[in-house]
Amino acid sequence: MSKAQETVLEINLNSLAHNYTFLRSRLKSETKFMGVIKAFAYGSDSVAIAQKLEEIGANYLSVAYAQEGVTLRDAGVRLPILVLHSQVVSFDTIIERCLEPTIYSKRILTEFIIAAEKHGQKNYPVHLKFNTGLNRLGFSESDVEEILEIIKKTDAIKVASIFSHLAASEDLNEKEFTQNQIASFTRIAKKVDAGLHHTPFKHLANTSGILNYPEAHFDMVRSGIGLYGFGNEAKYDERLIPITTLKTNISQIHTIEANQSVGYNRAFKATKTIKSATLPIGHADGIGRIYGNGKGIVSIEGSPAPIIGNTCMDMIMVDITGIDCAEGDEVIIFGPNTKANTFAERANTISYELITGISQRVKRIIINK
Ligand SMILES: *Cc1c(COP(=O)(O)O)cnc(C)c1O
Repeated sequence: MSKAQETVLEINLNSLAHNYTFLRSRLKSETKFMGVIKAFAYGSDSVAIAQKLEEIGANYLSVAYAQEGVTLRDAGVRLPILVLHSQVVSFDTIIERCLEPTIYSKRILTEFIIAAEKHGQKNYPVHLKFNTGLNRLGFSESDVEEILEIIKKTDAIKVASIFSHLAASEDLNEKEFTQNQIASFTRIAKKVDAGLHHTPFKHLANTSGILNYPEAHFDMVRSGIGLYGFGNEAKYDERLIPITTLKTNISQIHTIEANQSVGYNRAFKATKTIKSATLPIGHADGIGRIYGNGKGIVSIEGSPAPIIGNTCMDMIMVDITGIDCAEGDEVIIFGPNTKANTFAERANTISYELITGISQRVKRIIINK
């Protein structure tokens, strides 16, 4: 293992391939796989992840916003790319860079048809999104007839797929709710198929949908968090490998006497003599204030070292009393062994928020290309 001399996020592409293979093993061989690589591939490196997914056989990629897709096209990624939350201002970019928009409202539908016609497009692939219970984005079931009427009046666009998104696929207490979403999506799919002259492909499941609802795989699945190594449940976490390791090193060690304090606002006060280590990572790097005052626990030589006091913008201080370590030694914030979901859950948040929040100031290192 390389010793970190500054704060780095190591991204292991072998682990990505492992997770992809595991998730694929849960699917029928004909089911297509979309790698969700929005938000810098969940805070890692969207280009490196896209290129690896393309190499190992993913069928589709998706991003949240058009500019994220432009980054991938600029890097030479050829796979089809779905823009999950397309915005009217980016329609020209979407068409110019061969990205595929999600059409989730009548406003988006009419505006995209205008853009596609302006660009002289025929059968431009679009994806209709339906709301089946998340109440975030999407047409409702009762919109089907009206939108198909609009679509049938133009040959500038073609419905490549229809999809919806599960609200609670990781929560087995919400099984009935999820099954209702699946049933509702199935009804919508039948109506759309009956109303069009071709059969668009269907997709519904995110990572937990893949793992918990095999009946919801349809023609394609959309996986994000699973690819990055988290299964939202212990029995799946065991089968996946977190692809990133956030590591740093000890800048300075202090002895803190009883009644002395550490950090801003004197948030930590020593009750006995302790040793503290100052680390070059702070809330500007993605370790937010919620991790201060003992919530975040880093790992030094395999021993837990809790954050003491408030997190600063560029630094945190941790309690290293009793740990045999020196200035310059490596510190693991999270990785395959001390996992990001555990780190996040101690501060009442989730792996998704922690990993996507690692800021662009942290250098990315790709290993096992
Ligand atoms: C982010 C996202 C996903 C991926 O979800 P995971 O839980 O990370 O697998 C899938 N579909 C949509 C619409 C999303 O926004």
